[in-house]
Formats: sequence, structure tokens, C-alpha cells
Amino acid sequence: MTAQLIDGKAIAASVRQDIANAVSNHRAAGRRAPSLAVILVGNDPASEVYVAHKRTDCEQVGFTSIAHDLPANTSQQDLTALIDQLNADDSVDGILLQLPLPAHLNASLLLERINPDKDVDGFHPYNLGRLAQRMPVLRPCTPKGIITLLHSTGVDLHGLDAVVVGASNIVGRPMALELLLAGCTTTVTHRFTKNLEDHVRRADLVVVAVGIPNLVKGEWIKPGAIVIDVGINRTAEGKLIGDVGFAAAAERAAWITPVPGGVGPMTRAGLLENTLQAYENTL
Ligand code: NAD
Repeated sequence: MTAQLIDGKAIAASVRQDIANAVSNHRAAGRRAPSLAVILVGNDPASEVYVAHKRTDCEQVGFTSIAHDLPANTSQQDLTALIDQLNADDSVDGILLQLPLPAHLNASLLLERINPDKDVDGFHPYNLGRLAQRMPVLRPCTPKGIITLLHSTGVDLHGLDAVVVGASNIVGRPMALELLLAGCTTTVTHRFTKNLEDHVRRADLVVVAVGIPNLVKGEWIKPGAIVIDVGINRTAEGKLIGDVGFAAAAERAAWITPVPGGVGPMTRAGLLENTLQAYENTL
């Protein structure tokens, strides 16, 4: 392996330490702790694990974590009323609505209902619009965490040919906006893209967020490129792997993220950063 590993676990731990220090300083100055309300609807096992992690993260850095665990048959009206109540509550800095929601609920309407100042996931059209217009406030956590990882390499991003594989609202699209903001020449590829291989082969920087193991073959990676693998897939043996053929990619890339231990911890850290920012914006 010739690539250097980008250690998301270690970088996220350092971000968390900075946040814990900031919280201590606020408390020492007599202020209340930042607080995050997490809404979980139903019993999706993966969501339950993610939410448990988010709550533990909050406790570790000294945030107040407010749990709203609701039954799967919760109505759109009741959820809307809860969001309105949290929007109006001055002791709540961040509101997180865990996705996916049960099929009878309209996630877009509910996300849009969250006060953009408390939209710590950064999914509200207002926050995405600000990012598109180069005036970001609360930025989607996964792309934001990836930018921190990229800066940790010390590589100048200006003018790099960046290719994003995947165009979802939560990863691919905001990632493209972040890379554009960072000065990359950015291409977004998706399920209708013709000849994905050609795009990846010319990329100085490739971010892959699809959810298909080995979609991007390691042999496609341009020598010296930076590879960020967002995908999370579980093999039949229960092992977690990404979307990039890791072994061959690591023979060609200059920098690569592992799965697990790359992007995942940074997404969690990004949520904490956004919650602290939402809190500090109220001071
Ligand atoms: P999604 O299903 O919403 O979007 C997938 C995207 O991939 C779509 O835009 C689709 O057009 C594109 N796509 C599908 N087939 C393709 C192909 N053959 N070639 C190119 N593009 C193709 O998924 P998502 O929510 O963006 O998540 C993607 C992956 O990232 C999943 O594995 C998810 O678990 C993971 N994820 C990880 C983190 C993290 O913190 N590590 C955060 C979010 C998502």
C-alpha cells in the first residue's frame, strides 16, 4: 500500500475535544450547555444505533441531549406540532429529525418546518441555498466532515479535478457545493452517468457515496489521487466495507479514507460542531 490513510477516527476525536473545551468555557462563564433535540420515529434498527451514538456523543462533550422517541404510527400533524414546539423553545439549539421516516410521513415538509437556525443536519433548503451561494451557515454534516478530512492532508484543493459519485440530497449534492466552494473543478456523477470509469480515471479527488460495494474499482484511481469513500456496506460475513475496491485503490492513491474509521466519525463530529455553532449564534 502506498497511500496514506486519512484517520477520521483520530481527527473526529480532536474535533470533539475542541468542542468539549468550548462547552467548558461557556459553562465557566455561567451559560447553559448547548442542547440538541433528537426525534426518532419508529424502530428502524440502524436508526436506533445512529441515534444512540449521537446521544452518547452529546453527553461526552457536555451537551444536553433531549430524546423524543415516537411510535411508528405518529402522524404528520403530531410531528409538525412537535417541531413547532421545539422551534419555539429557547432552550433548544438544534433539532435533528432522524431519517428515514416511516413511509406515511412526508420528510421534505418536516425538514422544511425546522427553523433553519436550529437545522443542525443542514438539510433545510435555506441552509443548502446559503451553501450554494457561498455563504454557508449550518452545513450538511457528512460533506462538512469530508472537507475537514481533506484539509488535514495539507493538499491545496484549488483547481483539482474532483469527481463526486452519487448525487443524493444528503451527501453527493452538498458535497459538490462544498468542493466548488473549495476551488475544485467539480463533476457530479449518478445512476444515469455514462462511463463512470472515464470520469473516475481523470479525477485528482474522488468522493464516492452510493452504497454499492466495489462500484469504483481500485484500478480506476489516478495515481496520486485522493480517495474519500463514504459508502457503508455490510458483507455476508458482517464486515463493513465501502464503495471503493480498497486494496487496489490504496496502491495508486496518495491519500485514502478507510471504512470504517474514515468519513463516519466525521459525520458525527459535524453534528456536534453544528450544534455548538447554532448555540453560539444565539449568544
Ligand atoms: P442514496 O441512495 O440516497 O443515493 C445514492 C446515489 O448514488 C444516487 O444519487 C444515485 O444516483 C447514485 N448511484 C446509484 N447507482 C449508481 C451508479 N451505478 N453509478 C453512479 N452513481 C450511482 O444514498 P446516500 O444517502 O447518499 O448514501 C450513500 C452511501 O453512503 C450509503 O452506503 C450510505 O450508507 C453511506 N453514507 C455514509 C455516511 C457516513 O457518515 N459515512 C453518511 C451518509 C451516507
